[in-house]
Parts: sequence; structure tokens; C-alpha cells
Amino acid sequence: MHPIPMTRRGLLGSIGALAAAASSASLSGCGGAEAATSPSSGELLIKGGRVLALDAAGSQLATGDVHIKNGIIVAVGENITAAGAQEIDATGTVVMPGFVETHWHMWNGLWKGMANDATEYFRLRSLASSYTVQDHYLAVRYAALQALNVGITTCHDWADGVRNYADFAAHMMALSEVGIRAKASYPGTSSGNVTRREDLVQARDWLQSNGQNRIQLGLLLDGAGAQFEQQVRLARELGIAPITNHEGFFNHPNVLGPEFVYTHGTDVSDAEIDAIRSNNIKVALCPTTDPMIGVGLPPVYQLLSKGVKRENMGFSVDVSCQTSPEPFEMMRTLVNASRIQQTGLNAIFDVVRAAPKWIFGYGDALRVATAGGANVLGLSEEVGALAAGKKADVILVRLDDINMQPSAGSNIEYQLVQCGSSHNVDTVIVDGIVRKRHGRLVDVDVKALTRDVAAAQEALKLRGGLS
Ligand SMILES: [Zn+2]
Repeated sequence: MHPIPMTRRGLLGSIGALAAAASSASLSGCGGAEAATSPSSGELLIKGGRVLALDAAGSQLATGDVHIKNGIIVAVGENITAAGAQEIDATGTVVMPGFVETHWHMWNGLWKGMANDATEYFRLRSLASSYTVQDHYLAVRYAALQALNVGITTCHDWADGVRNYADFAAHMMALSEVGIRAKASYPGTSSGNVTRREDLVQARDWLQSNGQNRIQLGLLLDGAGAQFEQQVRLARELGIAPITNHEGFFNHPNVLGPEFVYTHGTDVSDAEIDAIRSNNIKVALCPTTDPMIGVGLPPVYQLLSKGVKRENMGFSVDVSCQTSPEPFEMMRTLVNASRIQQTGLNAIFDVVRAAPKWIFGYGDALRVATAGGANVLGLSEEVGALAAGKKADVILVRLDDINMQPSAGSNIEYQLVQCGSSHNVDTVIVDGIVRKRHGRLVDVDVKALTRDVAAAQEALKLRGGLS
């Protein structure tokens, strides 16, 4: 029942035709029209950009450099020299940490264009039983490459569509090959059955051996019911985090803890906010999908005004079949939602007269999108800011595109959040490896990938009886 062996070679073999099926989108040697420069590793010197470190001190440099060696940031400063380093010209860009995403059902990205609202989305979930292992692999690969394309360097793969270890192995393989940093979370129960300890151990150990220190295991507990607390204890014993679900966990007060991630929250109650605050629980907000399906705006103001720390909030894509990942739009929505909730006013000049002092600003949104997300996933020591010793997850955002203006005097945090767009993301580096350069994913044939996804969707609809 669990045929996937633990080695990378064995996993590749077991997935079988995956490599061949994905050959058109392979990371190695596709060389198509979409290909840019080859991945670079070793030593990089990002030179001459406007540096927004988003560190605790709020460091900014009008013109600065970031020195990377073996996947680690070794220095952030002015006029750094590094003989032998590959130089990346950052002129005309903002250099900042990559975005950290905290909750994404990557497996159902194959439904793009099919899930116009929540009703359609939940109807489509019956397709899970028609997925092949290759569908899981392709969906996660597709989502992870979309993430890199928009500057998301860490994601949280919510693998709630998997039925067994083989399906989950395809997720782990896709994340590993794409090169994104990730938490990959396994369902702790399935159709009322408790996930076997052996499966969790096998997944954890596979990632330790093959995840290049970029991917770690988390646990999902939707529908866990009476098994909830025993699965939390097992996760803690095995060192698996975060622990998350869609239902809230407030009826299990004895096991709540700081590795829990609460999702969505448009209907969060005051009592639940108290539990979130007092247990140091983290929150994965959904700024694009929750408004899209009509359930509301992310409860930024409610959480902040009742004492939940900004540092404990991250943004999340949720489902990329409904809205594509757009970090700048997510940040904008967080700011705008908070303002709407703070004023409670809907006449322009009532707001003008009130002249509110906003409790959630542009710098806050940028930090939720980076350091906040890292804290939500338990990765704040590693990523979320540009500082010596952090992992080298760095993005360059162009300031000389038509929707921007490059003046040194501009309020850069405001400009990024309210004016920025994912098409401004010029360069994306994860673990010191260049995954996007000059606006194009490195060694990814995007047209072939989207053709593969479209074909998989058609086949899935046929198998699922939807066409
Ligand atoms: Zn969700």
C-alpha cells in the first residue's frame, strides 16, 4: 500500500513516468525560448540596488549591496567587494527578502478557470478521487513555479488532497525539484482514519535526506475530530510543525501551542482571538481568496486591536485555481482591509475629517509578507529579512517599470505596497540559487508547462465525469 521508497532515486523510480511527463518543463536542459541564464550558486554579489532589509532595525540603503556565499547572506552594506563572486547588477531595483507564503492548497491549482466561487470550488473537490500521482506532481510543480515567478521564495503546501503516501511523495518531489523553500503538510487523518506514524516518519525522513534543508514536514488536522489531540502529541514527538487546520482548534485548549496556525479568520470571534493571543498561535490570512468567495476581508484590525502581534501574522495564497498568487495585491488588501475596519466610515470626507492614525501601515504589510510569514512557519531564524547569517532568499523588484517611479525620495514601502505588481519582480534567488532573472524563470519552459497543465485539467475532467 505504501510503495514509495525512501531514497530520492527510488522515489523518482516509483513515480515512474513523472520525469518523462514533465520533461518539457524540466529544470535541466529545456533551453526553450523562455529560458534565461542558468541557475547560479556559489558566490553572488548583488550590487547597487536600493536595499530594503526588513530586519528588526528597519535598515534601508539608498544604494547598497548584498553578498551571498554558499546559500547564506554574508554581508549587507555599501561598497562591498567580493573578488570572484558573480555580480548581479541591481541598478534600478529594490533588493529585499523573498515573500513567505503560509497556506496554499497547491494540489488543486489544476482547476484554474473552473472554480469561480466557493460553491464551484467545493463541488470540484470530488475530483480528488480522480487524481493520478502525476497530477499531484504537476499541480505542485505548477504552483511552486508560479510562486517563484512572483517572488514567493517560501510556501506552505497544504496537501489536503492527498490520499496516501505516494501522492504526498509527489508533492515532496515537486517542491524539491523546483527549488522553492517550503513546509509540506501531510493530513493527520483521512476519511476518519488516523494517518500512520510510519508514513509521517517516512515523509519527515525523506525530506531530511532529500529536501536540501529547504523543505520540512508539517501536519494538517481538518476533520480530525476525536483523533485531534493524539495527532498533535505525535507531531510534537516527531518534531513536525506547523500544525494547522481550517476549523480552528479552540475546542482543544489543552494542546494549543505556538506551532499552531489558524487560517482565514473572517468569522473569528473575540473568544477565539483571546485564545490566539494567549497561546501565541499564528495566523494565515487570505487577502485574495476570502473577498473573492464573498466571506469578507482579512481581520487585520480586529486581531491587532485585540492584542495579536503583527509578527504572528502571515499572508497566504490559499487556492491558486481561484486567484493567482499576487504578493503585492495581498499586501495592498491587508492595508486596505485594516483601514476599512479601523474607520468604520464610508464617506470620503468623514474619513478626511477623522484623519485616522493608521495602526497597520505599509511597512507592516511588507513585514507580514516576509518576516511575519517566516515566524508563522517557524522559520524566522532562517528567512524573512536581509541580514548576515540568514538564508539567501532575495528578490529584486524593478523600480523603472511604467507603474513605478525610481525617485530616491519616494516612500519606498508605500510605493511597493500600493503600486507594485508581480510583473515588477525581476530576479528571484532561493538558497543562493538564481531561479528568476531579467523577469523570466530560469530554465523553465513556461509555455510547455501551461500546456501540460491544460492537458492534465482536461484529462481530470474526463475521469471525474465533468466533461
Ligand atoms: Zn485553506
